[in-house]
Amino acid sequence: MRICIINTGGTISCTGQPLVPMPSDRFAAAVRDLLGPALAASLPGLRLHFDTGLRFSDQGPGTLDSTDLRPSDWCRMAARVLDLYDDHDAFVILHGTDTMDYSGAALPLLLNVFDDLGLARAALSKPVILTGAQLPLLRETPQGLVLNAGSDALANLSGALAMTRLRLPEVALYFDGRLWRGSRALKVSTRRLAGFASPHLPSLAEAGIGIWHGAAAPLPGPASPAQALDDPAARALVRAQLEAVAQGIDRQRVVQIPAVPADHRSAAPLLAQMIEGALASGATGLVLEGFGEGNIPAGDGAMRQALLHAQAQGVTTLIASRAIGGTVGAFHYAAGAWIVDTGAIAAGDMTPVAALAKLMILQAAAAHHGWDRSTLAALLTRSLVGESALQDRMTGPLWPGQALSAADGALRLWNDPDDGPVLRDGGQVLWQGAGPGRLQMLDGRLVLIAHDGARLWTSPPAVAGAVPVLTAHPPVLRLIDPSGRVAPVTALPG
Ligand code: ASP
Repeated sequence: MRICIINTGGTISCTGQPLVPMPSDRFAAAVRDLLGPALAASLPGLRLHFDTGLRFSDQGPGTLDSTDLRPSDWCRMAARVLDLYDDHDAFVILHGTDTMDYSGAALPLLLNVFDDLGLARAALSKPVILTGAQLPLLRETPQGLVLNAGSDALANLSGALAMTRLRLPEVALYFDGRLWRGSRALKVSTRRLAGFASPHLPSLAEAGIGIWHGAAAPLPGPASPAQALDDPAARALVRAQLEAVAQGIDRQRVVQIPAVPADHRSAAPLLAQMIEGALASGATGLVLEGFGEGNIPAGDGAMRQALLHAQAQGVTTLIASRAIGGTVGAFHYAAGAWIVDTGAIAAGDMTPVAALAKLMILQAAAAHHGWDRSTLAALLTRSLVGESALQDRMTGPLWPGQALSAADGALRLWNDPDDGPVLRDGGQVLWQGAGPGRLQMLDGRLVLIAHDGARLWTSPPAVAGAVPVLTAHPPVLRLIDPSGRVAPVTALPG
């Protein structure tokens, strides 16, 4: 396997006091000299190439503390992967830990292209693994650079390289023995070597004595060779999107505002004022971090006014949770339910980090793709690259107790454990299934299967590999074929 190592900077490649990342070529030469033989011996079959061609600006050493990375730098990293795609089987990106989770959320959205239903038109087909360290890999001494013996950097670098062997076709983040989906990870510690966690998704893989797959299912990768980035036509789609995003993303001013305990009923409700202040200073999007399930003090109506004001100005608001592991959307409490009709969009189980990166990138890509506001809102809700729990489509059986929710409206398919599947549009029941069981795709048909294996209902045939997707406009469960075409609308069971 040919592995390309791209260095963006961060602690792993830092020296000095205070720490500053060294230029890529110096770091690459030192790693080759000091560690080349050891890496080659412990990773047989991997051919390593150190790329030193990434630049974040026309000047400087080409590496940065990740604190200083701009959103357009996410595009530069993605463009470098595209440039080198044909020559390598996997990419390991060395990155500072401070904003590695932002890059982990941004890169998959930049290396895949979707249609309005969130189905892939072009898809990443090779591993792209971000890693870094809490302590530098190398140490400067009077005799020159030496290995920093107490650092986690060598274990993270060699672990990330080993993980490429699993050939998972997604952007992942490797740290302290765990491979996380990049868009699900969060930096959780500046002291522990386990610097990242993934509150909503277990690991994709783990390393110890060897490496093994984790509990999270990897992304499926391209459905056909024509969609894979190996195909120049698919790559051209990604490149065109990337150029459009790179042009506009630094003009995106997405502001993240946490709910805070305060006297929000006073004459000057603090949170509402913060939102108005953000709007006045040109915010193009808002990510609010509510308490718990996204609850936000209503402030005697001032917050509602502020959110309606944002909506009227065309500024999209995402409501995420400050709780690590919080999920927003059910709004079980009156303290949050008032938000539902303000036009603000619930972020589901997306981390605030992923919500911010997604809002920026989708808004920067909207004109290029011709997405209007409602398409944008639906795409923000849909899981595009596994950044949130799948809600509007089935990739496995829909078991009793599970539900699908359309991203573009109130349509919901709930698999009632007692009565079986029921399709509701708001309060109106559109269809009630033929009894309890699991809904599952079998041989290109959607089938309702009872506990004893009896088929209670079978849909007309669809294209093999079709995925059921629930859409509110029109209100149907559609079967979409793997190349992204909408297969004939399937009549729901009756
Ligand atoms: N400030 C550093 C960075 O994010 C921290 C690290 O890499 O651990 O670049």
